[in-house]
Amino acid sequence: MSDAVRDAPEDLSPGPEPGPRFELGPGLERLRREARAFAARELRPRAASMEWAPDPARRVAWDLVEEASRRGWRTLGLPREDGGGGATVLGLCVLIEELAWGDMGFAVILDQTLKVQRILARLAGGETRRRFLDRFLADPRCVLAICFTEPETGSDYMIPWPDFRFQTRAEPRPDGSWVLNGFKRFISNGADAGFYLVFACTDPARPAPEGTSAFLLEPGLPGFEVVQVHEKIGQRTINNAALRFENVVLEPWRLVGEAHRGFAGTREILKESAIEAGATTLGTARAAYEMAVEHARSRVQGGRPLIEHANVACRLAEMHAQLEAARSLIWRAAWAVEHDPLYDHRLGSAAKLVAADTAVRVCLSAMEIHGGLAIMSQEAGVEKCLRDCLSFLHSDGAQDSHRLRLADLIRARADDDNRGER
Ligand SMILES: Cc1cc2nc3c(=O)[nH]c(=O)nc-3n(C[C@H](O)[C@H](O)[C@H](O)COP(=O)(O)OP(=O)(O)OC[C@H]3O[C@@H](n4cnc5c(N)ncnc54)[C@H](O)[C@@H]3O)c2cc1C
Repeated sequence: MSDAVRDAPEDLSPGPEPGPRFELGPGLERLRREARAFAARELRPRAASMEWAPDPARRVAWDLVEEASRRGWRTLGLPREDGGGGATVLGLCVLIEELAWGDMGFAVILDQTLKVQRILARLAGGETRRRFLDRFLADPRCVLAICFTEPETGSDYMIPWPDFRFQTRAEPRPDGSWVLNGFKRFISNGADAGFYLVFACTDPARPAPEGTSAFLLEPGLPGFEVVQVHEKIGQRTINNAALRFENVVLEPWRLVGEAHRGFAGTREILKESAIEAGATTLGTARAAYEMAVEHARSRVQGGRPLIEHANVACRLAEMHAQLEAARSLIWRAAWAVEHDPLYDHRLGSAAKLVAADTAVRVCLSAMEIHGGLAIMSQEAGVEKCLRDCLSFLHSDGAQDSHRLRLADLIRARADDDNRGER
């Protein structure tokens, strides 16, 4: 190295650091603490018995939904000027992780509601917005549902191909109203929602992004029927349902945002959804990990607690490291989606992909550490965590949909880079 270079080193000081911080501010720490205490005191003890109630109506902890309303959690995603909590995506991830630690089904009831309210806050104006807010804010049990999936339309709306259209159709009438016909399935909060955001093809000549509209429905509209509550293997404390629409007349105010642009507009907002899905599955997997640590401390085999056997200790270490890595990615994506003007769309899919795969691996390890008890006794709790986490291999998009989406974005970036170099 020459003397000149040694004498005048490059300035490597980092300067201001506007990027993600990995400690939460006092507001989010408080939210986290309160949600954690609520999950431990109210959710965890009740979920195990409620999930197997023969009547689906008794599987939802409505008194706790009301309690969540009192605490402002049900409306946390609405802007403050609309009467909500104005939370950031990171704030929602913190809340949802803690609730899912207590019970994934309950966390999803709230997360779906938080997701739909943010879509409506951004897309709905005038009478639509007023009618929605009036009822939603007044009714502490008003939860929300979003309806894309149809028997013929599953991954197609996650990885749309050029000719994709929803089969559910809405026809315009001369007076400005619409007539809705079709069928949706797998819908979270599907049997219980106060409002349903339903996506329907309104211009069959155009592909979904240019020919789909979003409509706001309430239960009780003539022709709108819940035809089945799905008996799921996991997330049993939230009801998922199949819905039929037969000549449902929709007044003009029920159209959300611009006609034909409902799918395109919502997809842009839903880039946050995958990140929250990651936080949900992370919370439940963390619960399984903590159960495994506790079991490994108290169960003695080979003359000492399991945690003192190297293979068990290494398994716990691996679980811990994987959960920490997943949370770091979720928080980074949650921060970037709101603050980074050059948001990298790969982050959301990456966060959901990593968190959902990690969650299943961690739950399987927790099962292993519990030995035969995990299979023989539901009291151990880990088998519920596994069943719940399995649901997120498909909920919020199949894992492969996210892989394919990620791969598309990687290809597009590589093409851009190539063009830039030429
Ligand atoms: C617990 C739970 C809650 C849900 N909640 C809601 C909700 O609230 N609202 C809602 O609208 N939907 C909801 N869904 C539906 C969910 O979004 C879909 O299940 C998901 O998008 C996958 O669709 P599918 O189940 O029809 O699977 P399919 O699309 O049939 O996929 C089956 C398999 O084939 C692969 N595959 C499919 N298409 C392609 C392709 N083009 N290229 C390569 N591989 C492909 C998939 O990756 C997957 O592995 C929920 C699902 C679950 C499990």
